[in-house]
Amino acid sequence: ESKHAGRNCYRFFTNELQVNAQNKKMLSDDLRRATYENEFILCYQPIIELKTEEVAKAEALVRWNHPSKGIIWPSQFIPLAEEMGLISEISSWVAENALKQSILWRSMSGKERPISINTSPLLYKGDPAWIENWLQQLKANHIPGNMITIEITESLLMESNDSIKSQLITLRDHGVEVSIDDFGVGYSSLSYLQELDIDVLKIDQSFVKGIESGNDSLALCEAVIVMAHRIGLKVIAEGIETAKQHELLLEAGCDYGQGYYYSKPIMAEEFTERFITQAPLEILA
Ligand code: C2E
Ligand code: MG
Ligand code: MG
Ligand code: MG
Repeated sequence: ESKHAGRNCYRFFTNELQVNAQNKKMLSDDLRRATYENEFILCYQPIIELKTEEVAKAEALVRWNHPSKGIIWPSQFIPLAEEMGLISEISSWVAENALKQSILWRSMSGKERPISINTSPLLYKGDPAWIENWLQQLKANHIPGNMITIEITESLLMESNDSIKSQLITLRDHGVEVSIDDFGVGYSSLSYLQELDIDVLKIDQSFVKGIESGNDSLALCEAVIVMAHRIGLKVIAEGIETAKQHELLLEAGCDYGQGYYYSKPIMAEEFTERFITQAPLEILA
């Protein structure tokens, strides 16, 4: 706002900063408590195989269920959690609960239901013990590694060192899939695709948004899909909101899609009702 308002609004700008600083202080006190009292919930969004229109996986998306403020979105607290050093605690909670959910879905449907989990780059820079702990949990619950996909961002790969690489290799050795989230909007080079075994690229939703309007977005999506397939990767398009986008991406050979057109992220109970216990699926109804 202050950018548009010009010089005369300098005071307003300062006030806003102060308010933000106060808010942040309050929010960080709350977040510390929330982390130890597990005030989080996981929503799940289906990832659809475009050809069959069947649910292939679910992405787990965390929300903070604040006792007085209500639901707080990840964009409002994940960066803060990273700053405060709380991200590994929150990540363990997410991983553990996603795992429990997949076990529950397996017991309900007799079928494994792969789940995709977002991971912060900071996780790979902290204590690598989280991987062992987590693989241990997989093993104890007889969950094959390939039931889990780990989503990472290009920013992690940009600064990829030996420790990060070896963590990703350990995960892959156990069958865990690695997928690049928000592909195409980071500042990294493509060279990591040669160095690391990646399984999936998720085309960022900003490219999907434009594909109906005849600008270059469709060409960019097509190019990413061709490139990915040539090096043996699958592609998920994020943020599909219309039937037309679904069609164009299907025609372009994209493997999977995710977006409001199929379903918003929903609570586990609703996901179970709509996509697990209900068969056959009618997601586009
Ligand atoms: P992301 O992993 O790229 O997740 C996709 C985001 O796009 C989600 O926002 C989802 O609700 C939203 N989305 C899905 N379909 C559509 C669509 O058709 N249109 C539009 N406009 N948006 C759509 P959400 O849930 O607010 O999450 C935002 C980001 O927060 C995620 O982006 C991810 O980077 C991060 N995040 C979420 N959960 C976790 C977590 O457990 N751990 C970590 N480290 N980060 C997380
Ligand atoms: Mg993601
Ligand atoms: Mg994304
Ligand atoms: Mg993201």
